[in-house]
Amino acid sequence: MPFKRKALAKEPAPKKVLKEEPKKDLDEEGEGKSGKTFELLRGFRDILPEDQGRWNLVRDTIRSIAESYSFDRIDLPILERSDLFQRTIGKGTDIVEKEMYVFTDPSNRSVALRPEATASAARAYISHGMIERPQPVKMWYLGPMFRHDRPQAGRYRQFYQAGFESFGVAEPIVDAQLIVIGHQIFKSLGLDVKVEINSIGTSECRAAYLTELVAYFRQHRNKLSEDDKRRLQKNPLRMLDSKEEVTRELLQSAPQILDWLDETSKEHFMKVLEFLEEVEVSYQLNPYLVRGLDYYSHTVFEFTLQEDVGDLSQSALGGGGRYDGLVEILGGRPTPACGFALGIERIVRALEAKGVNPPERPPALVFFAQLGDAARRVGLKLFEEFRQAGVSVAEAFGKNALKGQLEAANRMGVRLTLILGQKEVLDGTIIIRDMESGAQEIVDVKKVVGLVKKKLLHEEGVALQSQTPVVEA
Ligand code: AMP
Repeated sequence: MPFKRKALAKEPAPKKVLKEEPKKDLDEEGEGKSGKTFELLRGFRDILPEDQGRWNLVRDTIRSIAESYSFDRIDLPILERSDLFQRTIGKGTDIVEKEMYVFTDPSNRSVALRPEATASAARAYISHGMIERPQPVKMWYLGPMFRHDRPQAGRYRQFYQAGFESFGVAEPIVDAQLIVIGHQIFKSLGLDVKVEINSIGTSECRAAYLTELVAYFRQHRNKLSEDDKRRLQKNPLRMLDSKEEVTRELLQSAPQILDWLDETSKEHFMKVLEFLEEVEVSYQLNPYLVRGLDYYSHTVFEFTLQEDVGDLSQSALGGGGRYDGLVEILGGRPTPACGFALGIERIVRALEAKGVNPPERPPALVFFAQLGDAARRVGLKLFEEFRQAGVSVAEAFGKNALKGQLEAANRMGVRLTLILGQKEVLDGTIIIRDMESGAQEIVDVKKVVGLVKKKLLHEEGVALQSQTPVVEA
């Protein structure tokens, strides 16, 4: 409240009175509601207007690539029954064990904020009888996910993912094409990513492998951290992506899953790799890549930045794999499927680190300056006419004097300013001022849209043409 501050400034300096700091109403994570202002929850963030240019670039690129590969958009609910995720992602996983936002809704049902959207896409595939449609059913989505993980660089509790899911076809070309699509998205954004790839086979060959892996780590149990001991017991496959130094060393002599793949799994994997070679997408075999979720089978992959961008090096920008059993787990008919998800915050962060900063929207080329209420009334109609003509117009409705309005127009860097005073309203005219030369001309208000468009096309050709297409009234 600026007027209050002003009043205070006039008062004589008060004698030193020690004021108590307003007590913060802290929760167990140290988040507070201090005085009258609310702070963000930890791990949550605002995506501000100044960041939207990069977000738009990422969203638009994903959308255009999805469309060029004939993927259809699907929007899935943020809230689902909690057992949808518990049953599919798996009991021993970090997501289900400690990261889900689960609560009881007013109808006494256990619901969860979605931690990912593949399970929801599979649910939608079943709920809408998509198995009857021509296969594969290819869908993409973009929206927020929620995981109550420990926040750190590139890890939030609400984060956005764009996902691509292909249902109904078991052929390895589907896996390869999805990897190519992910790779294309990064390439179009100017990001150099590495594709890491592995196969975790079918649940049968994985079971045999896991018996062997558990036996191996049991021999070294006393060297393992408490966390890894727990992993070994609950979800031994996760030993492969343990971050513990000791475990990573032990892994070098541990049995490798690729040696345990059955013939069909091996053949599937080889074909995926051959397809990638065919389209010259380079990949790196990573025998320790398993991905966190239970529903994966056969191919698993991740996209990691090649370039060093500080806090993001090492972290995956996206990942996915085949999940042939998922639809069946949810009560549908057996349906092979494959997909991947990209982390938008991390991609945006990588672009920021590279100095990519596109404008959030094309800047306005015209400014409307008004003097008086009659001019404002005419102005409102003019704005609509300009919008229909595809010309964006800026204003400073908070200012009344012409001087202030022209200063605002200058700051915005517009090419032309339209000036409408009482006299012009009575005459049915309007002034067009060229901001560079300062030249002004009085024109018929009915012709102003056409004239402005002509001037801009003459001077700014490309900029104007690239504005959002407009439906003519
Ligand atoms: P996931 O579903 O865990 O395989 O995640 C796919 C991608 O989403 C990851 O590669 C990250 O880029 C992104 N991601 C996952 N968790 C988070 C998070 N907590 N905060 C930000 N991005 C995330």
